[in-house]
Amino acid sequence: MSQIIEVKVPDIGDFKDVPIIEIAVKPGDTVKAEDALLTLESDKATMDVPSPAAGVVKELKVKVGDRVGEGAVVLTLEAAAAASVSQAAAEAPKPAAPAAPAAAPAPAAAPAAPLPAGSYSGAVDIECEMLVLGAGPGGYSAAFRSADLGMKTVMVERYPTLGGVCLNVGCIPSKALLHVANVIEEASHFADVGVAFDKPTVDLNRLRAHKEKVIGKLTGGLAGMAKARKVDIVRGYGQFLDAYHLEVALTTGSGSELSGEKKVIRFQKAIIAAGSQAVKLPFLPDDPRIVDSTGALELRQVPKRMLVIGGGIIGLEMATVYSALGARIDVVEALEGLMTGADRDAVKVWEKQNLHRFDKVMLKTRTVGVTCRPDGILVKFEGENAPADEQKYDLILSAVGRSPNGKKIGAEKAGVHVTDRGFIPVDKQQRTNVPHIFGIGDIVGQPMLAHKGVHEAHVAAEVAAGQKSFFDATIIPSVAYTEPEVAWVGVTEIDAKASGRKINVAKFPWAASGRAIANGCDYGFTKLIFDEETHRVVGGSIVGPNAGDMIGEIALAIEMGCDAVDIGKTIHPHPTLGESIGMTAEVFEGTCTDLPPMKKK
Ligand code: FAD
Repeated sequence: MSQIIEVKVPDIGDFKDVPIIEIAVKPGDTVKAEDALLTLESDKATMDVPSPAAGVVKELKVKVGDRVGEGAVVLTLEAAAAASVSQAAAEAPKPAAPAAPAAAPAPAAAPAAPLPAGSYSGAVDIECEMLVLGAGPGGYSAAFRSADLGMKTVMVERYPTLGGVCLNVGCIPSKALLHVANVIEEASHFADVGVAFDKPTVDLNRLRAHKEKVIGKLTGGLAGMAKARKVDIVRGYGQFLDAYHLEVALTTGSGSELSGEKKVIRFQKAIIAAGSQAVKLPFLPDDPRIVDSTGALELRQVPKRMLVIGGGIIGLEMATVYSALGARIDVVEALEGLMTGADRDAVKVWEKQNLHRFDKVMLKTRTVGVTCRPDGILVKFEGENAPADEQKYDLILSAVGRSPNGKKIGAEKAGVHVTDRGFIPVDKQQRTNVPHIFGIGDIVGQPMLAHKGVHEAHVAAEVAAGQKSFFDATIIPSVAYTEPEVAWVGVTEIDAKASGRKINVAKFPWAASGRAIANGCDYGFTKLIFDEETHRVVGGSIVGPNAGDMIGEIALAIEMGCDAVDIGKTIHPHPTLGESIGMTAEVFEGTCTDLPPMKKK
């Protein structure tokens, strides 16, 4: 007998109001269990809602653009007799991509049992207690912690330098260039205060060399620390042979060119930290003028006109760099706002400060056609803010998100479950469904941030060493290192509204901060969000220079369960931008003497 079931949005962690960007099915469609039904997009990535069973779609209850949270009914499904599922399972299918911050990770799905040890019976070149696959921030932190805890550790990495995306083509090079951009920007404002600099001339070769030097210092430092800990590095492309063996196709040269040699490593425990890669839009042709973030960081040219596809953090950071170097920028974003996930008031401030960079910010618009010509790249748009004519660009940056590398490591041979999108689900101890194999970093889910991966790495290594560690962080802060910076942590007003949580909001405008006025950034603000009942801080946002350096204090306050009095009565140094956090808590308490008298509560 068939059964009509309501398919609901699964546990997607702290995300409460996530827009639907695509619906893959229509009434009458036949689906298999685990087929993607629709796609949600949080602040930094997309995630699918899978079908809990095989069957026929009866009725759609949502449309593209609707915002949904856990438990929202998205469609009804007539489950096929043989495949029908319990109502409970239908109501809470496992997310295809563990979208929640690791604070609430997807349970480790266990469709496949681990293969018996030794299903591989060939020769073994290296034996170790702990194998770490990938040497990004997750991988090297896991390897170093494992070695510190006494395990004989081997780390496998295909590239010649350690540090993964973050150190080589992500966080660090982008920040080296953003620093330069910020100095250029700041210098340009100095004429207003009587100190004029000439228009900067940019030597791209030297700037590139500076960025490479920054990367070299850090990656070289990592190699030294690996040596000091006796972590063996095997350079090559790793693929599991079974649950206890990894084959490494050795690589050589400056990239990941195969040398033709292979080595087999036998391990007792493993941590998968193979990260993610940029999503490639299928309609973008191969042309050196169309790049992802890695290509943009190579700084091959400064274009006159640049299109950034995707208004998330990575796209906007690179837009800031290229704009400071002299490019005019257009941004196209399918959603209704830039930097989704960030506090909307903070984004408004950022937008106002950045108007000068952009010719067009095309929200609710998509790129639908791209033609490469010798004199430029012609782009057609569709949507609410699409220009009528094709636009011509010298450079296109595609920054539409990153996809995990779960399907590229032979995980199935180890019995490790990988979702359709390539994520590896883990539990709160970072274990996959195969108990001696752990997963960390971008490959296990959102948010794809280095500091989340490092935290998970420590948990995995400690659990593997027999300690009772858990990933039980309440919050994970996010920062857009744009100009000005936008930083946020914990609950936002949109989250609270979506979940019905009762909150109070306090905001301290930097127009009342002596340091902000002195520094020429009195447009910024600090906002704290308090639980209405307990007065404990549950969220916060800062927009302005150094916001990213300051958000850690709010993160600590949330983790420690601080209330407004704890924060307000902590003496902050004066005059600093950081004292705005204490003052915001005083605003909540009605005790702030740096603002006009406040209404009595
Ligand atoms: P990765 O850094 O992706 O490392 C995975 C490693 O595994 C890679 O070195 C890869 O070569 C290796 N590998 C993969 N498969 C194999 C295999 N089969 N065999 C051998 N080796 C393999 N995050 C922040 O927190 N702050 C930022 O400011 C920030 N800025 C960013 C800017 C940009 C432009 C980008 C692209 C990302 C940025 N991120 C930032 C995200 C951050 O870089 C990632 O979250 C982080 O690098 C993930 O770490 P990881 O260890 O999970 O994986």
